[in-house]
Amino acid sequence: MKAALFREHGGAEKILYEDYRDPVVSPAEVLVRVKACALNHVDMLLLDGRFPPPEGLPHVNGCEVTGTIEATGAEVTGLRRGQRVVVFPGFACGRCEYCLRGERTVCVCYGYLGAHKDGGYAELVKAPAANIVPLPEALAFEAGAAVPLAMLTSWHALVAQAKVRPGQTVLVQAAGSGVGSAAIQIARLCGARVITTVGADDKIEFAKSLGAEHVVNYRTQDFVEEAKKWTGKRGVDVVVEHIGGDTFERSVYALTRLGKLVTIGSHDTHWGRLDLRHVYSKNLRILGTNLGSILELQTVLDHVMQGRLRPVIDRVFPLKDARAAVQHVLDRKNKGKVLLAS
Ligand SMILES: [Zn+2]
Repeated sequence: MKAALFREHGGAEKILYEDYRDPVVSPAEVLVRVKACALNHVDMLLLDGRFPPPEGLPHVNGCEVTGTIEATGAEVTGLRRGQRVVVFPGFACGRCEYCLRGERTVCVCYGYLGAHKDGGYAELVKAPAANIVPLPEALAFEAGAAVPLAMLTSWHALVAQAKVRPGQTVLVQAAGSGVGSAAIQIARLCGARVITTVGADDKIEFAKSLGAEHVVNYRTQDFVEEAKKWTGKRGVDVVVEHIGGDTFERSVYALTRLGKLVTIGSHDTHWGRLDLRHVYSKNLRILGTNLGSILELQTVLDHVMQGRLRPVIDRVFPLKDARAAVQHVLDRKNKGKVLLAS
């Protein structure tokens, strides 16, 4: 098969489009012909070596995949060749203490499609049959591929972790990102009011169109001050944070008493300072979260199908142009998701 892989760490120039070994499915796995695969920031961490692929190089990125079933392993039942599917990107053992508690995203053996295994920047990808979710006919492959990581993670962060309620105020960092564009819509669906940040003025209207009430250009304005002004000096109830560094540290200052910061990524840096006085004196909650459950994925797909949530697709590149797609994301030119299609 053809794949867009990398053999060395670095920038977009390291992405090579070439022949690569076909995935070989075990009896409990399914082979999927990839129709669409979304790019994520974790792809960039894998590529530049901040999160080196656990199985080594060469590696194929791509954790958000839709496609059709090409073949099934001998033990797989209930799935048929040609069926439209979306791949749930988290792998769990099903046997450890955390899996047995129903918290599969903190499985001691947790892994991601496209990180711990080769992913969807390819014509074919394999996954356990347990990770295969039917893609409703009404949903395009492209729209489906924008859901399983970015939108699901935002859903789990706001609904399951922060438990956002109607009337609350939510600060979403980076409206232009996949996670940000999803989080704005989900917070609004929960009945919350949203303030968000962008890095360029040409993203302001875009953020408003998703439902943000107040949009702050973080390069020219102080988002903490803006959040305080917007809430009448009170501060926001919830922050969705996925940048790290100063953004993490300052996000905490934007919270009101009993506020919750949900951290779902570290796109700029893995580190962030925390002024502990704010945390204990205001009884703040710092919540870590990753991905969500298959049931939540089905719920989100249902909301997308009903038109209550809209996957925001910036641009679709052919698989062979994966290098240009990666550069587009690294340049932060995207408003929403960037996809590869084949
Ligand atoms: Zn487990």
